[in-house]
Amino acid sequence: MLATRPAMTDNGQSGFVHVRGARVHNLKSVDVEIPRDALVVFTGVSGSGKSSLAFGTLYAEAQRRYLESVAPYARRLFDQMGVPEVDAIDGLPPAVALQQQRGAPTSRSSVGSVTTLSNLLRMLYSRGGDYPPGQDIVYAEGFSPNTPQGACPNCHGLGRVYEVTEQSMVPDDSLTIRDRAIAAWPPAWHGQNLRDILITLGYDVDTPWRDLPKKDRQWILFTDEQPQVPVYPGYTHDEVRRAIRKKEPPAYMGTFTSAKRFVLHTFATTESAMVRRRVARYMVSTECPVCGGKRLKREALSVTFAGLDIAEMSRLPMKRLAEIMKPVADGKSLGKRATAEHPEQAMVRQRIAQDLCGRLHVLLDLGLGYLALDRSTPTMSPGELQRLRLATQVRSNLFGVVYVLDEPSAGLHPADTEALLRALDRLKASGNTLFVVEHELDVVRRADWIVDVGPAAGELGGRVLYSGPPAGLERVRESHTRRWLFDGGRPAPRTPRVPNGWLRLADVTRNNLHGLDVAFPVGALTTVTGVSGSGKSTLVSQALVELVAEELGHEIADEAEGEPPSLEDVAPAPLGGHVVGGTAGVRRLVPVDQKPIGRTPRSNLATYTGLFDHVRKLFAATKTARARKYDAGRFSFNVAKGRCENCEGEGFVSVELLFLPSVYAPCPVCHGARYNAKTLEITYRGRNVAEVLGMTVDAARDFFADDPPVCRSLDVLREVGLGYLRLGQPATELSGGEAQRIKLATELQRATRGNTLYVLDEPTTGLHPSDVEKLLTQLERLVDAGNTVIVVEHDMHVIARSDWVIDIGPGAGDEGGRVVAAGPPAEVARSKASRTAPYLARELG
Ligand code: ADP
Ligand code: ADP
Ligand code: ZN
Ligand code: ZN
Repeated sequence: MLATRPAMTDNGQSGFVHVRGARVHNLKSVDVEIPRDALVVFTGVSGSGKSSLAFGTLYAEAQRRYLESVAPYARRLFDQMGVPEVDAIDGLPPAVALQQQRGAPTSRSSVGSVTTLSNLLRMLYSRGGDYPPGQDIVYAEGFSPNTPQGACPNCHGLGRVYEVTEQSMVPDDSLTIRDRAIAAWPPAWHGQNLRDILITLGYDVDTPWRDLPKKDRQWILFTDEQPQVPVYPGYTHDEVRRAIRKKEPPAYMGTFTSAKRFVLHTFATTESAMVRRRVARYMVSTECPVCGGKRLKREALSVTFAGLDIAEMSRLPMKRLAEIMKPVADGKSLGKRATAEHPEQAMVRQRIAQDLCGRLHVLLDLGLGYLALDRSTPTMSPGELQRLRLATQVRSNLFGVVYVLDEPSAGLHPADTEALLRALDRLKASGNTLFVVEHELDVVRRADWIVDVGPAAGELGGRVLYSGPPAGLERVRESHTRRWLFDGGRPAPRTPRVPNGWLRLADVTRNNLHGLDVAFPVGALTTVTGVSGSGKSTLVSQALVELVAEELGHEIADEAEGEPPSLEDVAPAPLGGHVVGGTAGVRRLVPVDQKPIGRTPRSNLATYTGLFDHVRKLFAATKTARARKYDAGRFSFNVAKGRCENCEGEGFVSVELLFLPSVYAPCPVCHGARYNAKTLEITYRGRNVAEVLGMTVDAARDFFADDPPVCRSLDVLREVGLGYLRLGQPATELSGGEAQRIKLATELQRATRGNTLYVLDEPTTGLHPSDVEKLLTQLERLVDAGNTVIVVEHDMHVIARSDWVIDIGPGAGDEGGRVVAAGPPAEVARSKASRTAPYLARELG
């Protein structure tokens, strides 16, 4: 990372932002002029460098200038982190990034808190609510479950209480203790230790649990006592007694811990996500009996508005909320206390209701009216979250700002994209500039200005091929975007495949689905369509996946490195429905989702695909490595012997900042190489292992040309359009779409067995139309090999090419959740009720 500081001359007169010599990531010393007060769309194939220019250069520089102006000490920090590699940027206004979250959302916020609507609602209840006679006013904080003033004292504002029961900790009471009846106890040695302690204590470990005396069962599971006793592994109780009498020294002294104590203590204190997930299984949660799950104190819940308490109001879809507020804002609805008596209260109600309506209007227009204020952000898609934040900005009355957005159309049905474009227009009309990285051609066509980056990905991209009004791009031969924007050929007519059978689900109930029956063709490519919020993900990514997994009797693979489950995860939403047939053609289920392939920089493309195992073996087989007795483990940055000890193989160290989120800086010892000097002395064909991790997939394909197992993995990665990624690119730097394609590639490199059901949720996110083409080829290859592919999708190109379409809707939330049309694309395109039909008809021509 280079640290030349960009020139700060800001003439700002021309109405353009001037960039000179941008070299972030793959950018090849880019010079470009971009207009302000315009909608500018950055286009190009995935990996071409659009984000490196829009976010890595322009936004990063705006951010740097801002931070430097507010926090002089940040200067030192930027020297450590590196400033964007660019010679000069002139005319750059302050910037706000509305980026899609990469990796896991960290904060547990809700729709209400992100939009600040909850604050307004609390003010409304505090100052304009209907109080029972004689009750004192409750201050606004008193309506928040996250404050001591507001939280229900019984559940501390969680709404649920968590407990362990005999049933939850001993799921199978026909087992004996020796056969691990107490499932909640730790596995392996620690569990054996506890069982040995029970033997010393004289408990019967060979009788089925349910036949043990109640007193014993209670003590073993629930006691707070922690007796310390001698342990003689392998002895019976009688043998232990004899040993004690003969003063035979025990193997060790063991401390007893009841199952309850173990579960609750571990859940509260463990740092390991996996352990936490494991013990969470043995807890049950029930609604808090004091607040009825509403999380608030009784005083707060006694205050109502339009007959509802604030918790009930927060559970309504925002669309309903707006309907309730409208008459109040218009001064047509009076409070219970007569307006004449309390004119100031009526005024407050009206004022706040007006503000609420104004904000809600934007959210409804962006197609988010189906969300409730209390919906937690981790359960939302990145696209929904970005639109929420966008709506918040539209109301913020800022002007003279650059908004930098990352594929705002992700997750949007073409009908919703219209609303998005209106919101962007409003931001522009109030004097702002919009820089948008986008693939959706409907958005690209509406741009005032296009910056096309390319021509290809990684090393083969990084140049600005065109910068100007959309029409001019037609003359740029080299551009892949040109082809799609102007040639846009109709898909060749094709005959849909004939399914081998039908996978039928009946009575599916969850979120907005109520008793839905639906059939998916087996041995075909199916797309599930519908406006956002209609229920596609609920049906496919949740219900279908869980029901089929249950039917096949396999547990959905717990990702080893997950976020620790929160208390909410302990009690999953009830899932109704069952598979009524068709699993004959489905023997295996593989959900290929957009969840990160790992949450720390320790996982990367090479480790996830298994490719790195081969690479490490090649290094271990070199002459020097053999002479030094270095095995393959030596070349793992997760193993102590080979890695840099300063950063423990991360390559980065985290720098804690006062008042700001901590940032990662390159490790001062290994400078990001992750390995210790000894390991780096070993080379394979002249390169050390850190250099190999630094190669792109494309470069590695040439380098490993003679090593078939490595090549096979690399080839599939290239086929799904990931040739531009570096082998060691940390999981935390990958977008959801990239993670999804890595998972797909990992699947594709396995021998295709057929009879597998692949489930994908919007795999085209982040993909340029020419990359979508590559993806389609791969999906078709899977179907041709005898598998079934079911995809949630908005991309009309993909929908037109599928064998079967299931359109969910017609609207979002309660107005959706039904099958509006199902059939081959040409048939669905003729449906009168489907909102997808007109767009599909246009695509089919
Ligand atoms: P796009 O936005 O067009 O998909 P990017 O700007 O994300 O492309 O990536 C351009 C190139 O820079 C790619 O080769 C990518 O692998 C590389 N790249 C992206 N992020 C980083 C990073 N944090 N460090 C190094 N290289 C990166
Ligand atoms: P789509 O995939 O079509 O955009 P979803 O299946 O995500 O739609 O959502 C359908 C409905 O279910 C929406 O009203 C949404 O708000 C609701 N919903 C989805 N996930 C959850 C959840 N985890 N908790 C509560 N409601 C949810
Ligand atoms: Zn409570
Ligand atoms: Zn290091």
